[in-house]
Amino acid sequence: MRIERLRTRLILLLVGLLALALGAVFVAVYSATDSSAERQARQQLQVGANVFSRLLELRAQELAGATEVLAADFGFREAVASGDLPTIRSALLNQARRIGADEALFFDAQGDIQVSSRKADGRAQVKLRALQPLGSNSLVAVIDDQPFLLVDAVVMAPLAVGQVAMAFRLNQALAEEMRRLTGLEVSFVTSQAGNTLERVGTLGMGGGDGLEAPASALVDVTGEVFLATRITLLEQQEYSIRAQLLSPLEDALAIFDPLKRELLLITLIALGLSSLGAWVMAGSLSRPVSMLAEAARRIGQGDYASAVTLNRRDELGRLALSIDTMREDIAERERQIAHNAFHDPLTGLGNLVKTREQLSDSVTAGRSGALVAFYLAAEEDLIKARGQTFYSRTIAASAERIRAKVPANSMLAYHPGQGFLLVLNNMQTDQAVIATDGLITILSQRMEIDGIKLNLEWLAGVVGWPQHSDDPDELLRQVAMAAADAHPGPERISVYQATRDQAYMRRLRLIRDIHFAAQMRELSVVYQPKLDLARGEVRQVEALMRWQHSELGFIGPDEFILLAEQTGSIHKLTQWILTAIASQMRTWEDQGLDLQVAMNISALDLDDERFPDQVAGVLHTYGISPPMLAFEVTESALMINPDRSLRSLHRLRDMGISLAVDDYGTGYSSLAMLKSLPVQDLKIDKSFVLNLAEGSEDAVIVRSTIELAHNMGLRVVAEGVETATSLEWLRALGCDTAQGYFISRPVAAPDLETWLQANRYTWKPKEHS
Ligand code: C2E
Ligand code: CA
Ligand code: CA
Repeated sequence: MRIERLRTRLILLLVGLLALALGAVFVAVYSATDSSAERQARQQLQVGANVFSRLLELRAQELAGATEVLAADFGFREAVASGDLPTIRSALLNQARRIGADEALFFDAQGDIQVSSRKADGRAQVKLRALQPLGSNSLVAVIDDQPFLLVDAVVMAPLAVGQVAMAFRLNQALAEEMRRLTGLEVSFVTSQAGNTLERVGTLGMGGGDGLEAPASALVDVTGEVFLATRITLLEQQEYSIRAQLLSPLEDALAIFDPLKRELLLITLIALGLSSLGAWVMAGSLSRPVSMLAEAARRIGQGDYASAVTLNRRDELGRLALSIDTMREDIAERERQIAHNAFHDPLTGLGNLVKTREQLSDSVTAGRSGALVAFYLAAEEDLIKARGQTFYSRTIAASAERIRAKVPANSMLAYHPGQGFLLVLNNMQTDQAVIATDGLITILSQRMEIDGIKLNLEWLAGVVGWPQHSDDPDELLRQVAMAAADAHPGPERISVYQATRDQAYMRRLRLIRDIHFAAQMRELSVVYQPKLDLARGEVRQVEALMRWQHSELGFIGPDEFILLAEQTGSIHKLTQWILTAIASQMRTWEDQGLDLQVAMNISALDLDDERFPDQVAGVLHTYGISPPMLAFEVTESALMINPDRSLRSLHRLRDMGISLAVDDYGTGYSSLAMLKSLPVQDLKIDKSFVLNLAEGSEDAVIVRSTIELAHNMGLRVVAEGVETATSLEWLRALGCDTAQGYFISRPVAAPDLETWLQANRYTWKPKEHS
């Protein structure tokens, strides 16, 4: 619509301007020809007027000749002298007839008319009203209300006895003759006191009132335009005779008619051509504009396929180029957005959405297959130790590693928080496990990121369809559960089992309830004695937490401590047990029982900078001297954020609290590394102690550990002592302290007190003696 109007407007504008210009030319030419025609008519009128005067003069001369002849005629003079009127009259008649005069008159000596050629008795009837000279020898007169040209002569016999006069009528015939000679229309108008007495002329009586126009004017006589001039022949005694000369403009104008026709033709052709030109030009403007509008509409509707081209070098061409660039940019951006919706920006692999889509496709297609989730075992530790950027690089590098190694007809994706997701089509679960194992081996190979060498451990969960589920979301949930069940070592790949679901629900329950365990008074502390092997005396105990869930029953710390750490509840638990222990120690001290109590703390406690102050606060509240308290920290906990852990440890140590490295031997730390820590005790993990036997591999490790620790000034504690043999053996090796079921299981405070009363010194025979 708009475009149509643009085109119309352009055409109207162009043609309008041209029409205006042509119109101006037209008007100019017309007015020029008009005035030229008028000038010509005026000239003709001027010439005609001269000819008219000349003609009257010639007529007058004719009359004058005849009149002289008559006046000089002897017979006529005699008749005049004798008063013979009939003779006079016949002479007059003869002479008048001879020259074609309309009237011949005889005046007596008094000047009265005696004879008229036209009337038998002129004396009484001829009325001469006005007389006025015209030129040198003639007169104009009104006789019997008619205009006449008149010439007179005196009759001498020998004295003047009268006058003769000859006259022509100023009539139609004269006018016609005038017209023949001049080409002008001629009329004579005789009037008396404003009333027309007679009007004769070439235009007949129809000339009308236009003839009364002033001298030299344009008059309209029955539709024809004339240029008129008026010559006054007589103006006397309220009588007047006027000659009216009219030059027709039509004729003069007619000369220009061909010119005007041509001009009109040229104008029309020019207008036509320019309309056509304007139409074509407007078209060449509006066509590309509507084409561009159409292209823009297409782009708006999401069609980016067809290129926008306009082969022009002008602004429209540039506009088309810009629109085309815009089209490409938008297409590119949409591609990007579409890509982002289905891809993980870090690895460039598909994302969760894509995985779900792929799963949905495979499941709907009725194929069987497996979904595998790979994740980094120590993911959180790595992030904490090296930072997010380093972690991202590790993931990206890992993606690079397996990208090309995944089986054909499978899809690899990455989802933060879930790790790599692999959709294996047309594969049974056992085959999937084999494939997964191969990929884990590749993933777990040593890698170097930012110059740091890493031995990363990857775990995987596997779920298969259709046997486990045929719902993509359900499969994703199941694979996450299976992955969570995987553990470093032989169990690094975990296949989903429906029964695991219950374990999962239980975990969720525990995570939820652990938060309220202290409030619900479900927590308690048990104490396990530590035997000083050299003195055979129990001076220390380890405090261990117990959770008696109201519905689920006894929950072991190996289960709930991990959950508490994962969910952040551990701080609450630590705080609770710290207070419980301090309170118990207060009681014991008051009873005169002095025992050093060791408590387990987690990595997250050391990570919290407020922790040392909290400990100091509690000890202060219960009036406990710091050396009576000991902390046990696993070596792996120390590795997570070594700097901050170390700061906390130093502060605790500076307070005088005893520190021990727990579970020694399960992690990667070397003794040399422990040297830099402010610890006094080393607890060899129970896995080395439980089956301690002469010559076993464990025995070798324990022996060397004891030796090295002693060399470094550390005391050694062995936990998990279940047999007398182990105990004796440890004593023989010079181990400082022993802890285990053989000595005592962990027991509640009252039971410990009872036990101590019976056994505290049983293990120290020297003092007994
Ligand atoms: P742990 O610090 O290594 O504690 C020693 C574990 O070995 C205790 O298990 C104890 O009952 C067990 N044990 C002692 N003697 C023997 C023995 O002769 N044979 C065997 N097989 N086991 C023995 P428990 O109480 O189940 O605690 C497990 C772990 O839970 C602890 O290991 C400790 O890491 C953690 N834990 C317990 N209480 C707390 C606590 O209050 N806070 C923190 N952060 N962790 C705690
Ligand atoms: Ca411990
Ligand atoms: Ca241990």
